[in-house]
Amino acid sequence: MGMLSVIMPAYNEELMIGKSCRVLAELLENAKIPYELVLVDDGSGDHTWEEIKNAGRKNSHIMGVHFSRNFGKESAVFAGIAQAGGDVVAVMDCDLQHPPETLLEMYRLWEEGYEVIEGVKESRGQESLLHKKSAGFFYKIMSKATGVDMQNASDFKMLDRKAVDSILSMPERNLFFRALSGWVGFRTASVKFEVQERQAGESKWSAWSLVKYAFTNIVAFTTIPLQFVTLGGLACFLISLILTVYSLVQYFRGHAVEGYTTILIMLLFIGSAVMMSLGVIGYYISKIYEEVKRRPRYLISQMMRGGEDVSAEAKKDGN
Ligand code: UDP
Ligand code: MG
Repeated sequence: MGMLSVIMPAYNEELMIGKSCRVLAELLENAKIPYELVLVDDGSGDHTWEEIKNAGRKNSHIMGVHFSRNFGKESAVFAGIAQAGGDVVAVMDCDLQHPPETLLEMYRLWEEGYEVIEGVKESRGQESLLHKKSAGFFYKIMSKATGVDMQNASDFKMLDRKAVDSILSMPERNLFFRALSGWVGFRTASVKFEVQERQAGESKWSAWSLVKYAFTNIVAFTTIPLQFVTLGGLACFLISLILTVYSLVQYFRGHAVEGYTTILIMLLFIGSAVMMSLGVIGYYISKIYEEVKRRPRYLISQMMRGGEDVSAEAKKDGN
């Protein structure tokens, strides 16, 4: 039986760590699946790291990675899969919103030979209206842009070693894990699951952080916004052609075109179109700048396995 590594990013989850570890360990032990749990503390400000160390002391299958600060969930997931030693790697939230029993179903599919098993949300669970709307809007754009249905996609996945290694070998810093597992291809299956309610602690996503997340990931995954800039320019050009013809005709018929208002409107319109386009282009440039710097994706300050400090083993910080 292949070993399963379960990656769980955790940011200010002191209330959930102990319980999640217990539930998962019991589940996997009962199913007789060899496993390890990799908990990545994404620079929490509470006692998450202490909780992870406690859990590790009780169960030698638990491994913990502690970031030097908050690097975000994508980095935490990446660090987790970089440290994972299993033949198959699962990624799930550590707030038990992704039902652990689904892991067994995924594992069975993996044994049948599937290499990428995607968790697909059956319902979006309890979320505020604003959250639902903004998430819905983001996923609609993402689906259009990437050609992958993102509406019900989640970060709950199981990947074969081959898929994991190909994701690890990607050089870019801004990774969008949710879409990447589709991008790599391989033999894919999906499993439906019901999003559970969070039992303790609170969601880390504010509406604003969702908007930022949307922009970052759209830019990380597609250059379509740049084509919108070109299209916008084309539209402006067509309008200007029509207006030119119109003004020339009026001129030769001896009427001057109404001047001030037209010019003012045109100027304001073109000015804002140019500035918005520059904003889009600027955003891509800033992302290129970030990539070019080749900063590590994350910095590990401590690592432990089964309660023992193994910081020296940390695989090179996200490179
Ligand atoms: N998370 C993280 N770093 C962050 C924000 C969140 O590692 O900066 C983790 C968090 O601990 C949880 C998962 O990502 O395990 C999903 O976060 P959350 O439950 O807040 O999101 P939601 O379920 O509300 O979408
Ligand atoms: Mg959650």
